[in-house]
Amino acid sequence: MSSLEENLRVVRERIRRAAEAAGRDPGDVTLLAVSKTWPAADVAELAALGQREFAENKVQELVAKAEELEHLDLRWHLVGQLQRNKATAVVGVGAVVQSVDRVSLVERLAGVAERAGAVTEVFVQVDLGGPEGEAAARGGVALEHAVELADTVAGYPSLRLRGLMAVAPRGGAPRPAFDRLASLAARVRSDHPGAGDLSAGMSADLEDAVAAGATLVRVGTALFGSRPLASGSGP
Ligand SMILES: *Cc1c(COP(=O)(O)O)cnc(C)c1O
Repeated sequence: MSSLEENLRVVRERIRRAAEAAGRDPGDVTLLAVSKTWPAADVAELAALGQREFAENKVQELVAKAEELEHLDLRWHLVGQLQRNKATAVVGVGAVVQSVDRVSLVERLAGVAERAGAVTEVFVQVDLGGPEGEAAARGGVALEHAVELADTVAGYPSLRLRGLMAVAPRGGAPRPAFDRLASLAARVRSDHPGAGDLSAGMSADLEDAVAAGATLVRVGTALFGSRPLASGSGP
């Protein structure tokens, strides 16, 4: 068994156990493989093992891999910050944008998608707090403005609101933060029944996220291994 195959097996098992412990159907939790910094060959290997959804945090890397692996018919998600001038590239490869955190970006994505005759799937990224200055680095709309931003997304026919996304604050227990996110997600879902997804949980905290109700977990390190420090690839 290759290490990717073994890692995939272990991560799927962690998801299954966490879901069962929470009384949830493991089939309701989608695994996103975060392939940032790893070569397209690794993505192709995971794809051959049945992994369909992948995520990147940089537009250029996402577009390059999506184009190189177009024949594999994978689903790509952008989980890093998006500048307005790169919206066209992301929409062009049909990626899901999980990092929508401001009205100007919503307007831009909606316009680009409409002109392309596409419907772009979107998550509103929520800032769960944490050390000073970290929010700016990770992105995300403040908790108190998340519902309003979700309403704005839902108003555009060229966008499809999937739900909310967040990264746990560094330091401290992730579970209370995920619970705050989940109650916000429940409000969004009651206003927009199609927006039932919750993207939360990474290699270190996916069990907490699944317990809180995550429907997508974004796993990099536990699948591919540790990223080189110099690449600036941190979340
Ligand atoms: C890198 C990244 C992940 C995956 O993190 P790991 O700890 O490697 O599993 C998940 N979400 C976002 C937004 C990221 O940038």
